[in-house]
Amino acid sequence: MRNCPNEREIDRYLLGRLSEDDAREFEVHYFNCPPCFEKVRDRQAVIESVARKRAELLAPPTARPAFAFRARAWTTAAAAAGVLLMITAALVLRPWERGTAARSEDVVRGAALAAISPAGDVSAVPEALAWSPGPTDLEYRVELTGPGLSWSAAASGPTIALPEGVRAKIGRGIVYTWQVKGYAPEGTLLERSNKTAFKIR
Ligand SMILES: [Zn+2]
Repeated sequence: MRNCPNEREIDRYLLGRLSEDDAREFEVHYFNCPPCFEKVRDRQAVIESVARKRAELLAPPTARPAFAFRARAWTTAAAAAGVLLMITAALVLRPWERGTAARSEDVVRGAALAAISPAGDVSAVPEALAWSPGPTDLEYRVELTGPGLSWSAAASGPTIALPEGVRAKIGRGIVYTWQVKGYAPEGTLLERSNKTAFKIR
């Protein structure tokens, strides 16, 4: 691929380090410069991949058997390309500067938390919500909603008791739904359960 003197601007552009005017000027350039256009596209993909890996690295390996392998593969790849390390460092240090980095919904790895109970038809007003534990240092947030009821609370373990005031609002034959989300200590949303419905028979 041909080289272009403007190429050195690419990383600064993608990392949001150009002034607004310089960024606009660079955009005009790279749309019309095939080598730069191609490199912007490639590096954008790298930056997004780094952001995803970073989200994975925030989770402890215990619940993720594939984690160690992927982390090693990633380390090797990064060592082979200095620019990746530079981008990684920039993302770790200043993630809020990048639109592509770690927007909370982007880093959710699917419905990894499993809601256990209540689910489906149940015989009595539940005393608690319970879900399968995720990685141990997640902070959980539960949301329970239904007609006339909207409750949410934080939990540090895989279960939370329903306060009496909430239980009193749960009526027979009415469908309620609840969901639990798991957050890393610094607040990134990492896991969530499906919305789970239940009804008192
Ligand atoms: Zn160029």
